[in-house]
Amino acid sequence: MTTIQNWLRNGWSEFRYRSGELCCEEVPLSAIAREIGTPFYAYSSKTVREAFLSYKQGFGDRRHLIAYAIKANENISIARLLAELGAGADIVSVGQLYRAQVAGIPGNKMMYSGVGKTDREIRAALEAGILFFNVESAEELARIEELAEEVHIRAGIAIRINPDVDPKTHPYISTGMREHKFGVEIEAALDLYRRAAKKEWLEVRGIQCHIGSQITDSSPHREALARVLEVREKLGREGIETRYLDVGGGLGIRYSEENPPAPSEFVKGLMDVAGNLDLTWVIEPGRSIVGNAGALVCQVLYRKDHGGKRYTIVDAGMNDLIRPAIYDAFHPILPVNQAEDPTQLSPTEVVGPICESTDQFAWDRMLPAFAQRDLMAVLAAGAYGSAMSSNYNAKPLCPEVLVEGASWRVIRRRQTIEELIALEREYLAP
Ligand SMILES: *Cc1c(COP(=O)(O)O)cnc(C)c1O
Repeated sequence: MTTIQNWLRNGWSEFRYRSGELCCEEVPLSAIAREIGTPFYAYSSKTVREAFLSYKQGFGDRRHLIAYAIKANENISIARLLAELGAGADIVSVGQLYRAQVAGIPGNKMMYSGVGKTDREIRAALEAGILFFNVESAEELARIEELAEEVHIRAGIAIRINPDVDPKTHPYISTGMREHKFGVEIEAALDLYRRAAKKEWLEVRGIQCHIGSQITDSSPHREALARVLEVREKLGREGIETRYLDVGGGLGIRYSEENPPAPSEFVKGLMDVAGNLDLTWVIEPGRSIVGNAGALVCQVLYRKDHGGKRYTIVDAGMNDLIRPAIYDAFHPILPVNQAEDPTQLSPTEVVGPICESTDQFAWDRMLPAFAQRDLMAVLAAGAYGSAMSSNYNAKPLCPEVLVEGASWRVIRRRQTIEELIALEREYLAP
């Protein structure tokens, strides 16, 4: 419990108890549950806004673009909230391009990342007038050039450098080491730039790297940046200008005991490495914008004692939040109605309804006793929560709500059972 209390005290969380009821900003989560049922995601707009503004504050009067990595939370209303503050978007698919457009993010504030961009996606991004592609291979560069010529739109490009830096995070979310599929090694990147600089339909605009996610210490980013700056300088000497310096995303958040720097501090640390260069900074934060803004709220269905363990079975599962199942991730868990005696704790397994042994939110967790039908909040679930959810076990996608002070609104309704089968219905044999 100390962990959770610390987290509530020191996190950026707008989730706290008021009169014994867990609230998001000023709205009791139980009030939302009464109206729309469980499970659902609740997001604090204040937390999202504050995280974004902290990045902005870090850059001060330096030219910059904060391109929200929309994959962390793809809800259009959240992207729109960020768009209104001036955010761009880091996108990795034509679906995300469309989401960003509907959210009101202009094409010239978007960059397109990812190792596997398809022809259709490249064409759509060219037509949307994106700022640049973060190119990840020689073959991709050649394909972008061909398609740019075909549609007669010059393609802005940056090469994603693989700086071979160990970000010391979970191996599944680390991306900037030689053995990972991402980016281009430094020598090869120089070659690609030289090739690109000569092409009529390509315009070198930037240089990028992204070394991983949930990185809670700024030294790996600083190390990677130093290597990218060396490449940038070498290019400059050859007359190849990279006006945009894109440092990727990856700043971590507090899930339990982590103590990451605030975005403003993190950004200042990076600017110290670079000194006062004449360029536009680009950063692609995802998790650190939305992670602490969200909670998954579910209801306890049953309890059982079995195999020497106590199981608390809830109505949300790995289909709603898969991070514990695939990354062994820790999420704080709180009762929505504060326990009468918060020091009275016992170990429990918190599990979902899905037919997989890994469908679990917590293992051997010290929690107050839950009664049947009690509400439970799984915190720090705003990033890679809803965005990674699925229809596994034919469970409909759950609703999402956005809280603003004392008011809240649905920003995605619950999927219907009919919608679950909509793509198949017309093919049913008579
Ligand atoms: C995932 C990703 C991000 C965002 O990472 P966070 O850890 O959520 O900040 C940014 N850029 C690229 C290229 C990514 O793949």
